[in-house]
Amino acid sequence: MRANSALYYRHSGAVGIVGPLFMLMLGLAAALVLGGIYGVADWYSPFIYLNFLLTCLLGLAVGIAVGLAAKWAKVRNSLITLVIAGVCGLAAVYAAWITWIAALSEFELVTFGPLDLASVIQMINAKGAWSMKNWTPTGGSLWVIWGVEAAVIVGMAAYCPRMVLGTTPFCERCERWLDDSVTYGPLHATANHQQIVTDLEQGNFNTVHQLLKVPDGAARFREVVLTACPTCEDLQLITVRTINIGLDKEGKETRTIDNIVLNLLLTKHQHTALTQHFDQLPAAVPPPSPVAADELPHIQT
Ligand SMILES: [Zn+2]
Repeated sequence: MRANSALYYRHSGAVGIVGPLFMLMLGLAAALVLGGIYGVADWYSPFIYLNFLLTCLLGLAVGIAVGLAAKWAKVRNSLITLVIAGVCGLAAVYAAWITWIAALSEFELVTFGPLDLASVIQMINAKGAWSMKNWTPTGGSLWVIWGVEAAVIVGMAAYCPRMVLGTTPFCERCERWLDDSVTYGPLHATANHQQIVTDLEQGNFNTVHQLLKVPDGAARFREVVLTACPTCEDLQLITVRTINIGLDKEGKETRTIDNIVLNLLLTKHQHTALTQHFDQLPAAVPPPSPVAADELPHIQT
């Protein structure tokens, strides 16, 4: 799909000096507080499913905190964000160990130092700390369980800033995120996926112009998203995506989004022409409902 990546928006990679420090401070604060609460909750949780839910929530919350800090501090570097979020995830795991051991010992043993903590963890691992259906995991199996738990927290923390930052572009000239886009749709999903990519990459908008509106309620349709910096003429973008509406096992509506082109760069002139075209697109004509023959108007000949 990305035959020519120069045609698409990419983050500049700029981070500044304050940005990473701010992300680290906010991320670590969230990690230490939430990790500490998690450690206690994890020990007292009566259900294994609740433990797993709490594990995911901890990673999610730390990742979102780092993502919000990255957005506020205007950090446009995915790798730096990933590394800082991963470090904060590790800090959450560390804080969780401190309070978990404290809770397990009825708050008689509170260990902060990494070496002391490691030797206490080794002792607990040899004896086991909890049982499930007459099985008390120790040694290798307990290391695996703890390893998976830590991996879920660090992995989710590292991944979740993407949920906050998403694919939002940033105008380097005006130093602002372009959060406001105009979405046109639902549009016909008939045009060939690859044809749309090829045409748009060649600056040919004919295929996109042929996307007419469809009535609301379609199970599959397309959307055209136009984004532009409101204060300069440096950055204009188009995204074309297919939306599939389905039902899950419980009958709840699901929505999957398949980006055909994502943030393709446009000139100011192209953006203006596309905006005018889609602003003037006629409303969808609903399909004719079947009419009984005797209800048809009588036409005199
Ligand atoms: Zn701008």
